[in-house]
Amino acid sequence: MDTLGKLELLSQQMALEPAEDADTLRPPATPAPTPDHALREPGPGYSAAEPGRHGRAPCGHSPAELHAAMQAVTQDGGDPAPDLDRKRHSLGVSYAAMPGGKRIALLKTLLTSACERDCYYCPFRARRNFRRATFKPDEMAAVFSQMNRSGAAEGLFLSSGVAGGGVRTQDRLIDTAEILRRRHQFRGYLHLKLMPGAEHDQVLRAMQLADRVSINLEAPNTDRLRRLAPHKVFLEELLQPLQWAHEIRRTQPARTTLFGRWPSLVTQLVVGGAGEDDLEILSTTAHLTQQLRLARVYFSAFHPVPETPLEDLPAENPWREHRLYQASFLLRDYGFELEDMPFTPQGRLPLDADPKLAWARTNLSETPVEVNRAERPALLRVPGLGPKGVDVILAARRHGKLRDLRDLRALGVLADRAAPFILLDGRRPAHQLALF
Ligand code: SF4
Repeated sequence: MDTLGKLELLSQQMALEPAEDADTLRPPATPAPTPDHALREPGPGYSAAEPGRHGRAPCGHSPAELHAAMQAVTQDGGDPAPDLDRKRHSLGVSYAAMPGGKRIALLKTLLTSACERDCYYCPFRARRNFRRATFKPDEMAAVFSQMNRSGAAEGLFLSSGVAGGGVRTQDRLIDTAEILRRRHQFRGYLHLKLMPGAEHDQVLRAMQLADRVSINLEAPNTDRLRRLAPHKVFLEELLQPLQWAHEIRRTQPARTTLFGRWPSLVTQLVVGGAGEDDLEILSTTAHLTQQLRLARVYFSAFHPVPETPLEDLPAENPWREHRLYQASFLLRDYGFELEDMPFTPQGRLPLDADPKLAWARTNLSETPVEVNRAERPALLRVPGLGPKGVDVILAARRHGKLRDLRDLRALGVLADRAAPFILLDGRRPAHQLALF
């Protein structure tokens, strides 16, 4: 198989990896569930057979078409092909949001889709019958470098199936990064995966080369991981590398890294594949973001994959994934604690309500927040006010009182969303009842 054929094959399998997606915070396309919905009930137009909620279905291009596509993409000085985005997409390039909001074209791919492990949810699991592809480190570095020079991809997210053990696989990922950085002088964005069981010095080397490193915990704790991936060891194989990475950032000088700064850390959890509740997921998320300083935790709503032990398990409702993202940002950026979350007796977040709004309805409806006097933490609790909006309000207060919703709108905050929960100069602002 040629290089571009391999890239296309690998791109078809990357839909289960939401890390770096620019649209993870966008609500699902399906209507929000009403309070009557069962927790697992899929919304209209949502079925287990769909490839993934972001619609990254295999494109069906033949390798010959891909050759033509890459030639168009890589022609020096040539006009970009009119359907450039579609061609890039077929090779595994999607848009990723960087810290600060910049969007880049990111090649998300694997060094190999061969894997000796047998995780129950995974399309790459050993013995599953599908066509696999493998790159050597210098081959991957060369094809990405070519795409980068042509403008087809600005950054690389590189993962791998486990072949020959986690340590050897990690070595090949690091080799690829070394070749890219040294031989090809690539200075753009690189997200490198850590393999289960990676050693301390490998974690250190990956961190010296990459802008971001991650290892997928997949489940919130040992018991749940056993139901998803019985041969992975939660503490030693998965959590330990993240703890090392945190320790390295905390104790070692960043001058040994390529850019003089340590990379960010992220992880990913499968949602709905192991009978876990949201309390378990968010407990682990709070630990990771607050104690280990992970930049974020990605959530991947479970989708059954044919020919896996979990193929008959229903797909998870994408609204659950969305509510978990909302809650995780409240924990990370808004000063919320786990006990503030509106958990049901079953430890689940209601699917029909934004968790911040649910908290405010219970806690602020009778005791609204005076916008002209409240401290930052109290303002952050108000729906419609985020960290940036609160900063703008605090700055505006130095110049005078905020007296009505027009003053807030002029500052660019979501005044109507905040209105039921605030006072402006001692008075509740007039607002229309929202039907949410
Ligand atoms: S180790 Fe990774 S690639 Fe291999 S089966 Fe498990 S999740 Fe899939």
